[in-house]
Amino acid sequence: MARGPGGPRARGGIATIADSSASNSGLSICFNCAKTGSPQISQNRFHGQDSGQEPQMATTHEVFNQPPALAGYDVASDPAMLDALRREGAGWAEDAIRELGRLAGSAGAQELGRQANENPPVLRTHDRFGHRIDEVEFHPAWHELVTVAVQHGLHAAPWRDDRPGAHVARAAGFYVWGATDAGHCCPISMTYAIVPALRHAPGLAGRFEPLLAAQDYDFGLRPPETKRALLAGMSMTEKQGGSDVRANTTRAVPRDDGSYLLTGHKWFTSAPMGDLFMVLAQAPGGLSCFLLPRVLPDGRRNGMHLQRLKDKLGNRSNASAEVEYDQATAWPVGEEGHGVRTIIEMVNMTRLDCVLGTATGMRTGVTLAAHHASHRTTFGRRLVDQPLMAGVLADLAIESEATTMAAFRLAGATDRAARGDRQEAAFRRLALAATKYWACKRAPGHAAEALECLGGNGYVEESGMPRLYREAPLASIWEGSGNVAALDTLRALTRQPESAEAFFAELDQASGADSRLDQAIARLRKEIGDPSEARARQLAEAIALTLQGALLVRHAPAAVADAFTASRLADDAGGPWGWGHAYGTLPSGTDTAAVIERATPEVSSG
Ligand SMILES: Cc1cc2nc3c(=O)[nH]c(=O)nc-3n(C[C@H](O)[C@H](O)[C@H](O)COP(=O)(O)OP(=O)(O)OC[C@H]3O[C@@H](n4cnc5c(N)ncnc54)[C@H](O)[C@@H]3O)c2cc1C
Repeated sequence: MARGPGGPRARGGIATIADSSASNSGLSICFNCAKTGSPQISQNRFHGQDSGQEPQMATTHEVFNQPPALAGYDVASDPAMLDALRREGAGWAEDAIRELGRLAGSAGAQELGRQANENPPVLRTHDRFGHRIDEVEFHPAWHELVTVAVQHGLHAAPWRDDRPGAHVARAAGFYVWGATDAGHCCPISMTYAIVPALRHAPGLAGRFEPLLAAQDYDFGLRPPETKRALLAGMSMTEKQGGSDVRANTTRAVPRDDGSYLLTGHKWFTSAPMGDLFMVLAQAPGGLSCFLLPRVLPDGRRNGMHLQRLKDKLGNRSNASAEVEYDQATAWPVGEEGHGVRTIIEMVNMTRLDCVLGTATGMRTGVTLAAHHASHRTTFGRRLVDQPLMAGVLADLAIESEATTMAAFRLAGATDRAARGDRQEAAFRRLALAATKYWACKRAPGHAAEALECLGGNGYVEESGMPRLYREAPLASIWEGSGNVAALDTLRALTRQPESAEAFFAELDQASGADSRLDQAIARLRKEIGDPSEARARQLAEAIALTLQGALLVRHAPAAVADAFTASRLADDAGGPWGWGHAYGTLPSGTDTAAVIERATPEVSSG
């Protein structure tokens, strides 16, 4: 087995994680025990064997033509991301992002991601004496992943950092560290997102924002104000409707002290071991937003009972609960009856993370695929040199770059909008809705194709590809499912004309550079004249594609931009000789080698 210096030295089921904290003490983690849910730290390399002799396996064959493990690489060595980081005003964060990228690409961090997913959280509704406790137990790997994320401020740093570009720096950290595991990014994202909504209740924001922004992880159920740091969640979806939250039936009854008592259920509430939840409920004045603590200031558990954890397709390291609220105490956020208007501020931030997380998944997939193809030989040459495989890899790489580019443009708009730039806020309104729709829609196909580049190995868990594949559809469901995101694009277009103006002003900056892009923009200008609901998907797709094209034409190397506009935007792109409906059908003449090179990771040797 060839591997980088940080790679696991695996034999007989034992691996020393050379670059994890465990290695500092010279300890090793037994994979076999880890699979049963409780990894055993062992000084001995083999249980029950003290002889010091390693058992020898009989050798029947030499292992060859398998790629080295992709470990010991810098996840942040990503030219599209680094260029965007600088362009969007956060060049000052580059060193820190590179450091986080090296950590994310280490064998130790990847192992944490594997363990957290193979040992999913467990709900403990009662203690052994029969008392209700409603607690969720997580594998230690989960806690380590969250610890790194909060120590790097991925959950809230921009809210207490005045430097222009702070939201972009945070986006880059989220993008890079998310390569270890998508599940733990959920509470990280919700904590980041809760702040703008919480500011609708200045008193509560004053009490809790400093604790939400603290770069510390303090797990466990205690009164929020006694903790070193807090994490947040969001509780909107009910059995009868998630997209249409106006159908919520949870009741909120006001009390004399200004708090409310909430009674009802929520069908999905992720990261239920968080400290504070933004909850929607029907108050006398209509659907309203509330901040609900898991533990009350006097130390009693609030009436928030976890009924079940969802048995999910993917996102397995994260817990998503069904909740009953039984006279749970909560404090109002925003005006009564303005619940949707208030919580949408939170949703708008998590939508950005849906795009960033999708970009991470695509980048991880194409990186794994390009790495494999540059080491695997079939029919006498490396896979990456087989013209048809080169076309597949280049197409995946272009999709990934386009998504990363759009994600960071939106992170930049978020940053400038947060500082009062109205033009950027208007641009973000339309561009985020459309990009959330399109990027997330492209993800499952991208993951499937990247997986297939590894052949049978890609279908096997230990390649990491099945985890990416299972995760891929989720971002499209969350925070406005596909149709809802497309309809929201339409809403921005028709009800907020300033967002269309800001969007076309952005596209105009690329005008004249590529005739295929110019034609696509002209087509789009005509199409928005017919904003009917039935065509919302076409419109959202066209908006997202023209934005990606404009960004690539302005900022990407010619090989990437040309291939994108020729395949995704040209008039004849969908014709019999143009771009097909599967990845890997780029026009001939594409400089595939130049494109793939940007997606091929450098693994440190030694
Ligand atoms: C893993 C996971 C974790 C989650 N975590 C949370 C959480 O922490 N907090 C929380 O509140 N929710 C959470 N959710 C719920 C999620 O936000 C909802 O599932 C989502 O918003 C869709 O709502 P729904 O399931 O009720 O589907 P529905 O609203 O019934 O929608 C079903 C389908 O109909 C489409 N649709 C809806 N309206 C229209 C329309 N007008 N025209 C055309 N098509 C339409 C939707 O796009 C969707 O495809 C989670 C979901 C998952 C899968």
